[in-house]
Amino acid sequence: MTDSKKIIAEDYAFATRAVRAGQERSGEGENSEPIFPTSSYVFASAAEAAARFSGEQPGNVYSRFTNPTVRTFEERLAAMEGAERCVATASGMSAITATCIGLLKTGDHIVSSRSIFGTTTVLFEHFLGKLGIDTTFVDLSDLDAWRQAIRPETKLLFLETPSNPLTELVDIAALAKIAHSNDCLLAVDNCFCTPALQQPLALGADIIIHSATKYIDGQGRCVGGAVCGTEDIVGESVFGFLRTAGPTMSAFNAWVFLKGLETLELRMRAHCDNALALAQWLEQQAVVERVYYPGLESHPQHALAKQQQSGFGGIVSFELKGGQEAGWNLVDATRMISITANLGDTKTMITHPATTTHGRLSPEQREAAGISDRLIRIAVGLEDIEDIKADLSRGLG
Ligand SMILES: *Cc1c(COP(=O)(O)O)cnc(C)c1O
Repeated sequence: MTDSKKIIAEDYAFATRAVRAGQERSGEGENSEPIFPTSSYVFASAAEAAARFSGEQPGNVYSRFTNPTVRTFEERLAAMEGAERCVATASGMSAITATCIGLLKTGDHIVSSRSIFGTTTVLFEHFLGKLGIDTTFVDLSDLDAWRQAIRPETKLLFLETPSNPLTELVDIAALAKIAHSNDCLLAVDNCFCTPALQQPLALGADIIIHSATKYIDGQGRCVGGAVCGTEDIVGESVFGFLRTAGPTMSAFNAWVFLKGLETLELRMRAHCDNALALAQWLEQQAVVERVYYPGLESHPQHALAKQQQSGFGGIVSFELKGGQEAGWNLVDATRMISITANLGDTKTMITHPATTTHGRLSPEQREAAGISDRLIRIAVGLEDIEDIKADLSRGLG
């Protein structure tokens, strides 16, 4: 396949990369990227097959390794994150698993933010723990805690910023310096911001993790993930594990995510606008005790959010006066908002983290992570903001 119009991403601005990077037209001259639903590829001869298998000749062999639709998605996301290389994965969790297994060995140590996706905590504690890879959890924003937790065998620092669901932040550039002066890699799960709002590699991070399931899809259809970074880390270690262990992305899902990337920046801006309006409104409600949203002046890290992100994201959490019953009543009073623990969809979603996303943590772990029984998380969608407010009003009255 040759396409004289394949763009050189560096020559173009972010919005243009989102629409065009990675596209290589076939001889059919299609304008929209094709889906290649094929598990294997044919060779012109036995000699070509041998050359492809040995790696002497570049090209497709089998879709667990490479697929043209998946490659287009990978090149586009890499161009948007400013990464040398991106590999797509079957889910966000397999992106994290592939990063850890690809880079770490028994005896290595991870320092991780305590405020991470619940399943990631289970992966680190239970499954990596079984392999002899220990994790120390620290408070996300406390740089001294990170410094003190690092040991000679520490290889990886891991975090999400803003965190889920309390939208806590860390100064990525400051933490990258700490990581590098201790010979550690810094991995940032950039799921909440996406490259449209935050580009961690430019701030010094080494690895970016994505759950493409969320804002990259943007309409709640497919499960997928990605890892971005250098050719060395991502192209060798992470991809080396992926192509062997097998949690790679399907061509169909890659196509859905490609289409998602094209509108990502526009959608993220709209999510941010709705979320800020909702957060400001929630702050005025008598039964709301506290609102967590980095765009609010009342957020303790509002200044850092303005400096590090170009928007504040679509997740708003808040604590109600009352306990679990008040939370569940609010959830049950909604008529439009979806009761689901997902996020990053055009549809606004409501969840009670303590009994859903963080339900597998022990009560002590939940308390340490600040997930109280009266906490509610809203993944603010793209409906009219007045309808979202009206739906929440039913249970806030
Ligand atoms: C959803 C999520 C994940 C896991 O992604 P899956 O696609 O569900 O495997 C990881 N990190 C964050 C921040 C998430 O929200």
